[in-house]
Amino acid sequence: MRIELETATSRDALAWGFETFGDRIALSTAFGPSGVVLMHLASQVCPGAKVFFIDTGFHFPETLRMVDRIQDRLNVCVEVIEPSISLGEQASLYGSDLNIVDPDRCCALRKVEPTRRMLDGLDAWITALRRDQGPSRAHLRVLETKEVEGRFLAKLNPLVRWTKAEIWQHVVEHGLPYNPLHDAGYPSIGCQPCTNPATDPNDERSGRWAGKKKSECGLHTLI
Ligand code: SF4
Repeated sequence: MRIELETATSRDALAWGFETFGDRIALSTAFGPSGVVLMHLASQVCPGAKVFFIDTGFHFPETLRMVDRIQDRLNVCVEVIEPSISLGEQASLYGSDLNIVDPDRCCALRKVEPTRRMLDGLDAWITALRRDQGPSRAHLRVLETKEVEGRFLAKLNPLVRWTKAEIWQHVVEHGLPYNPLHDAGYPSIGCQPCTNPATDPNDERSGRWAGKKKSECGLHTLI
């Protein structure tokens, strides 16, 4: 299958990914609205598509409930991945306030490590990243590749051209489940201790790590 990925529809980009990488490709999600749209499209293109969710131990109950809500509604297979280190072990080693004193290390332990472990068994990773989510994502391409520890890994971003409004329109039109916290002023939802309602209506990630010089957890530096 030969297609021009930068201009392909999201469904065609997904179809290319599943055909090219077979069972060595999976979606990651934290159940934001873009991830819900991505899983909806993937379930149509490849029923039973493999999805993974990193349970950091700090998620809102509303987020954790999305695991079952999504699997009840969509034909995807969600695998819940936990960090190698438990919250108790982390507290013993680094203190119980690591997310405050060193959030980069906390994200490295609770998000990056389990994601890297998951990617060790994959050749390609599908994300719901969009260019309109902020400056750090403005130049994303549909397909990105990186050499990681001697092998090439691909990252497929089929939703890069979608806007926030288009995402929500799709969610509503198709009656898809979404995290109820979005109706309470949280446009972007991560771990509970590091997520507040947005402070800037033009920046959906402005409630993440509020007051800190941090806007990304480091996951997307892996590829
Ligand atoms: S978002 Fe906060 S609580 Fe979650 S892993 Fe990162 S620093 Fe820790």
